[in-house]
Amino acid sequence: MRIAIVGAGAAAVGLLDALAVSEAEAGEVTVFEPSAHLWRGRPYGPDLDRVLVNVPPAVMSIRHLDSGHYSSWLGAERAAAHMDDLFGQPLVPRALYGEYLADTAETALATLRGRGWRTRVVAARIVAVARSRGLRLALYTEDGQEHTADQVVLCVGGGTPQDHYGLGGAPGFVGDPYPLASTLDQVRAEADVAVIGSGLTAVDVAVSLAARGHAGRIALVSRSGMLPHVYQRPLGYRPRHVTVDRVEALSREHGGVTLDDLAGLLRAELAEKGEDFARFTAELLMARSEEPVRRLRAQLAAVDDPRIGRRVLQQSAYTVGPYAWRLMSGSDRERLRRHLRLATSVAAPMVPVNAAALLELFDSGQLTMAPGVRKIEAVEGGFRVRGDGGDLNADLVVNALNPPPRTVPRAAEQLVTSLLADGLAALHPSGGLAPADPRLHVVGDFAAGGTFITSGILGVAARAARTAGGLLAAQAG
Ligand SMILES: Cc1cc2nc3c(=O)[nH]c(=O)nc-3n(C[C@H](O)[C@H](O)[C@H](O)COP(=O)(O)OP(=O)(O)OC[C@H]3O[C@@H](n4cnc5c(N)ncnc54)[C@H](O)[C@@H]3O)c2cc1C
Repeated sequence: MRIAIVGAGAAAVGLLDALAVSEAEAGEVTVFEPSAHLWRGRPYGPDLDRVLVNVPPAVMSIRHLDSGHYSSWLGAERAAAHMDDLFGQPLVPRALYGEYLADTAETALATLRGRGWRTRVVAARIVAVARSRGLRLALYTEDGQEHTADQVVLCVGGGTPQDHYGLGGAPGFVGDPYPLASTLDQVRAEADVAVIGSGLTAVDVAVSLAARGHAGRIALVSRSGMLPHVYQRPLGYRPRHVTVDRVEALSREHGGVTLDDLAGLLRAELAEKGEDFARFTAELLMARSEEPVRRLRAQLAAVDDPRIGRRVLQQSAYTVGPYAWRLMSGSDRERLRRHLRLATSVAAPMVPVNAAALLELFDSGQLTMAPGVRKIEAVEGGFRVRGDGGDLNADLVVNALNPPPRTVPRAAEQLVTSLLADGLAALHPSGGLAPADPRLHVVGDFAAGGTFITSGILGVAARAARTAGGLLAAQAG
């Protein structure tokens, strides 16, 4: 069997690893990737040491159902060197995690070759996939080369930042902050910087500026003014009620699950630990109105809080959530989508070391929040941010807005257009790409059918393993 993988980020690594550990008969695999930083994708290329992974090692394993795979690679010495004492977990620079991905991919390719597979990496972007004359699909690279494959897996990642305020091309506007090692190089130490957004990317920008000794003012300008919650120390708690099994049972009983069913599971989980559901949800909803720095301070102080509520909710967003999402009605999904900002702030919290750095910046007065932003315009010598709290001037604007999950990645736009034209796939009404041909697969954030939250490594690895299983079934058939 001839397999083509389009894109060489974490999803492709998960897929290759799953093929390598399987009993697959020898075949051929070709990976297409234009970037010089193979296997790292958008997040894990070379960057500043201050740009850290956002989650503990147990949920960063690219091998599905082997939560220790990444920790073993990291080893005790490196783990100790990167230990975040507040968090009680090692948090490595994202570039170092990229090394893990690269090592895993190279090991997988070598294993496959050892079993008689032919492997190839082609340094090119794919611009089209179409039906070919035979049974295979044809892939076309930007420079017009044709390749054919029995099975094509798109691992093209998620979208890239959108330019909401139409600032592209304005001097001093940084449209995509990564890699911060090069974008922040353009920032004078005294410049007043407006960072658009207040999510994890905005946090990355602010703490990286501070780590480089930035002296100018930094403002996080956003509509919501809501910061991510602060990650609590993992306790290793295993939910007994908020589980896939319980959701499955509910679905069997009622022919689907509702948001109220899921709330009931969480209520039972909390009750068993003596925690009050009403108080927990009230605390969460306060994120919309509570002064963000005050909330940040309180959350940082609660990193060790033994209550399980937020931990269960955060963890289940990636474990039970994707399963329950498929069983929910459209109106319940819509209800959840209306809480996107709050849900993302809980599901994707900032690591405590970043929370501490942010708080220090707020306390010194160097960092401020500017919520209620309505317009940002380029003016003579800089930018003016217009918001509910008045105007703010900045020398530079860094865009830290991420696109909604399941957006078409810019580098895959042509490719997607060709798939739609050939009827090989369709865009799902809730985002993402749904294959309409059994020879086509999607792994990663662009796969249709996921929840309204951007996939993390955990979900990417699970989908990669499932897809490898599908490829092997096709090979056997
Ligand atoms: C800044 C950032 C930080 C993150 N941090 C974390 C974290 O700490 N923990 C976590 O669990 N998750 C994190 N995530 C979530 C992230 O989505 C996943 O961790 C993971 O990177 C997704 O991998 P992927 O392979 O699907 O996509 P990507 O890593 O984006 O890789 C896609 C690859 O496809 C290539 N490509 C695109 N189009 C084409 C084409 N037409 N032809 C050929 N190649 C193409 C691209 O060049 C790229 O290399 C982060 C995401 C971002 C954006």
